[in-house]
Amino acid sequence: MLSYQHIYHAGNLADVHKHALLAWMLDYLTRKDKPVTYIETHAGRGLYDLDDPAARKTGEAAEGIEKVGTWFDADHPLSRALRSVRSAHGPRCYPGSPLIAAELLRPTDAVHFAELHPQEHSALSAALARTSAKCYRQDGFALAHALTPPTPRRGLMLIDPSYEIKTDYTEIPRHIAKIVRAWNVGTICLWYPILARAAHEQMVAQLETAHPAALRHEVRFPPARPGHGMVGSGLFVIMPPYGLSDEAARLAALFRSLMPA
Ligand code: SAM
Repeated sequence: MLSYQHIYHAGNLADVHKHALLAWMLDYLTRKDKPVTYIETHAGRGLYDLDDPAARKTGEAAEGIEKVGTWFDADHPLSRALRSVRSAHGPRCYPGSPLIAAELLRPTDAVHFAELHPQEHSALSAALARTSAKCYRQDGFALAHALTPPTPRRGLMLIDPSYEIKTDYTEIPRHIAKIVRAWNVGTICLWYPILARAAHEQMVAQLETAHPAALRHEVRFPPARPGHGMVGSGLFVIMPPYGLSDEAARLAALFRSLMPA
């Protein structure tokens, strides 16, 4: 039974971290003419209304994209995607990773999304109806294994689970090892929460041992509410594109400005 719904968290500081670096990577990958493959294992609904009562209830976007949107100049790929989606859907919407990807990728790229939750999947299919992206109502890791190695071979996979199931932390390194064996030229990007109770630590340590050349990038921020367990956001990127670590360092400095001195 899936209960997580990203609308409660859309546009929060973890989304800003993940989406800024995702947008940068997609922009980098599409600088060459050659088509790429983009796969997302846990897509969500793709388009969020920040005036939705669920989004207002947590107020996370107010402390996230609404507060720090000015970190990104007009040419940053996240700003470009945000501007384009808002001009089509209104100024109070926020694009999830699938819509950011749909904005930055090209018709020649092969694009695949998995989303298991029935309502989220049908909202995602509607949001992407005018694109050539394929949306599957299927387990994300099953899709990832079925599609790798993909054609075209160059490309990126975003793995962004909701970590609702305790075994996620122990199974993810095994899934990623299998994906990397099948697709050794792909960029594989895993998002994880930095939790006060440090549940992510063992998983990330295992990933670092298995993929020593990967980029581990973490930012900290004040919890969304007093006592809230998430105190930061992490990305683990295998085969990071050239220049990603510089962009990540720039972003990390901006996140540090949010922390009390
Ligand atoms: N990537 C999205 C973004 O940044 O806009 C947010 C995704 S949200 C964190 C995780 C999503 O994964 C939820 O919509 C949830 O319904 C979905 N999900 C949970 N378990 C899944 C599974 N086994 N396979 C595919 N999707 C799943």
